Amino acid sequence: MRAPLIILILILLAVLALVGYNSGWFGTSATGPSPTTAGDILPGAPVGPGAEPDEPVGDGGLEQLPDEAQAQGPVDPVNTPDLPAAGTFGHFPAGELLPKSGSGYLDRTTWSPQLCFPFAEDAFANSQVYGAGGGMGPKDKPSQCDASNYSLPWRDNFCESRGHASPLCANGKGHQGQDIRPATCKKDKHWVVAAEDGIITDMGTYTVTLTGAAPPHRVYRYLHMRMNQLAVKDGATVKAGDKLGLASNDFGGTPTTIHMHFEIRSGVSGVSTDGKPVKLHTFLPPYQSLVAAYDRKRAGQACQ
Ligand SMILES: [Zn+2]
Repeated sequence: MRAPLIILILILLAVLALVGYNSGWFGTSATGPSPTTAGDILPGAPVGPGAEPDEPVGDGGLEQLPDEAQAQGPVDPVNTPDLPAAGTFGHFPAGELLPKSGSGYLDRTTWSPQLCFPFAEDAFANSQVYGAGGGMGPKDKPSQCDASNYSLPWRDNFCESRGHASPLCANGKGHQGQDIRPATCKKDKHWVVAAEDGIITDMGTYTVTLTGAAPPHRVYRYLHMRMNQLAVKDGATVKAGDKLGLASNDFGGTPTTIHMHFEIRSGVSGVSTDGKPVKLHTFLPPYQSLVAAYDRKRAGQACQ
């Protein structure tokens, strides 16, 4: 059992190293030319409900605690000289997770360079499990409505310790997406919007999937909206910025905290160290794209 796992990990590391090198993960400022590399992104899977990969849903609520606690703290890139600039609002760099919440990564790729920020209003990216009121949150802050959850700076939580397959995270497992809280701690009030022009290709018990119309046909999955008050139906065509639904806490039978879990999937390709082509269609870190999108939103730029 162990040997295939080790080989898989080696292949993934090779892919990461190669894609990272090609796209400037390890030495590109976010303020420089976008490292997003069309050449590295393959066309996505065909559009349609049947094409939706049967992936484990990557979110966890209060009742779904991380099953892979890690002894090692997150990668701390604070002192590296090529960090992204702070931008126009307060946010920690991509990969700098809350202490002891998981392992970061060195990805500085803006995987969706024209992303439309997926909330109509202001919003706060941070961890809903490790933040105040979360299952692994600080004991002295038991309320999910704590001001710390509804203020800057933002925090990446893509590689937070979870048991879900997430190949770009250090141990191959992670959270698969980014948690974002709406403008206020009130559910069913704040609109979640389309990340780009596309089609609603799947609806689950508490998930809505949007597949981008244009190559590389990125797949965006939104979790925990108010599912019985959605603004769209399965199969609907949407434009970037169109309302999809209201941020809520739907999580099947058991509610989670009020937040929207946001994922980006697309194809990435590379070559292993022994020259073999490797292709993946998988979860990509959304944080850097969200930061850039939020900067555009704050600058008054409309989604296109
Ligand atoms: Zn989540």
